[in-house]
Amino acid sequence: MHSDILIIGGGIAGVSAAAELAPHASVILLESEGNLAHHASSRSAALYEPYYGPAPVVALSLASAEALAPFLTPRGLLLVAAEGQAAEFAAESNAFHLDKITPDHAATLFPPLDPARIRAAAHGTHASDIDTDQLLQSYAKSARAHGATLHTGHPVTALTRRPGAWTATTPRGDFTAPTLINAAGPWADEIATRAGLAPLGLTPHRRSMARIPAPDGMDPTSWPMTFGVDETWYAKPDAGALIVSPADADPTHPHDAWADDMVLAEGLARYEAMTRHSVTRLLSSWGGLRTFAPDGIPVFGPDPADPDFIWFAGQGGYGFQSAPAAARLVADTVLRRPVDPALAQALTPARFRR
Ligand SMILES: Cc1cc2nc3c(=O)[nH]c(=O)nc-3n(C[C@H](O)[C@H](O)[C@H](O)COP(=O)(O)OP(=O)(O)OC[C@H]3O[C@@H](n4cnc5c(N)ncnc54)[C@H](O)[C@@H]3O)c2cc1C
Repeated sequence: MHSDILIIGGGIAGVSAAAELAPHASVILLESEGNLAHHASSRSAALYEPYYGPAPVVALSLASAEALAPFLTPRGLLLVAAEGQAAEFAAESNAFHLDKITPDHAATLFPPLDPARIRAAAHGTHASDIDTDQLLQSYAKSARAHGATLHTGHPVTALTRRPGAWTATTPRGDFTAPTLINAAGPWADEIATRAGLAPLGLTPHRRSMARIPAPDGMDPTSWPMTFGVDETWYAKPDAGALIVSPADADPTHPHDAWADDMVLAEGLARYEAMTRHSVTRLLSSWGGLRTFAPDGIPVFGPDPADPDFIWFAGQGGYGFQSAPAAARLVADTVLRRPVDPALAQALTPARFRR
């Protein structure tokens, strides 16, 4: 099968890029798993907090607001600090554009909190829930409507380079295209290696999540996403229950991740230390991989050693909230349309090749 563009990876990155490109070029997407969004893209906290992340991510997230609007529901963000966290609290509440509130006010917004244990609190209304499933399905629908083919169950086992064409080998056949987009998430460095290019040092970091019942039959629907300072834990309402994360970021290898029980227990203890909520049981738990470049900034754009190999990786913990602008940037790059030169420079893989 031949197309103008081959995309490896059927998470939010690959599917959003397919949707942006399909109106302008023939696109084939290859995904290993039997369904789209099997890995990081089905395991996120689904938060849109545009001021979360390094400057290029904030720029992409802010630029994504309009496209994300149909998929957003207001949530709000609350930051709480314990004794001895004054400096970190000041820096983070400033970075997140939050307003200082009293501990009592914080406990009215997120009732499990114990105001006696809070030294400082700040709140903002700009954070929202993202309907990540709807977002991904909407991109998939749009890509298909414009003629893209999204092949699940097609692991790319080898990549061959010939003048003017890439060939991706899968157990179900070969696929060729002049341009290849590497949207393989935690596996992005492995794909580069298969393509004969040097890896960039992308590292997946595990993050664990526990889903727990809300305390005492409370209805958490309107509570804000609540962060402990220094991202030591966070809690977020989720369909009548709470998801609590230890906010772990343990470097690991690309794999089908699961939650670490000990890490979860330690994170839940940090949540309990700021609340009156004693967690007695989990409804479920899961883990996912957030993949970061060595400088923590995503890697979007052509590889300097082969400009027809386009990196779309390293989205870390921001891959949904930045998806629309990120996909547009990658599509503009592939289609040789103008891009914001400063942003493209900040994201280019060339920064690791100097
Ligand atoms: C616990 C957790 C919480 C998060 N919270 C948020 C949040 O609140 N807000 C936010 O914006 N982001 C959040 N994120 C980050 C977000 O989920 C990721 O940035 C995003 O999902 C990455 O998408 P992706 O498509 O790059 O990777 P993935 O979803 O991992 O997709 C990569 C795909 O490539 C496929 N693949 C790999 N190798 C091959 C191959 N050889 N052949 C074919 N296919 C291949 C894989 O099977 C996989 O499906 C969170 C992530 C985690 C883990």
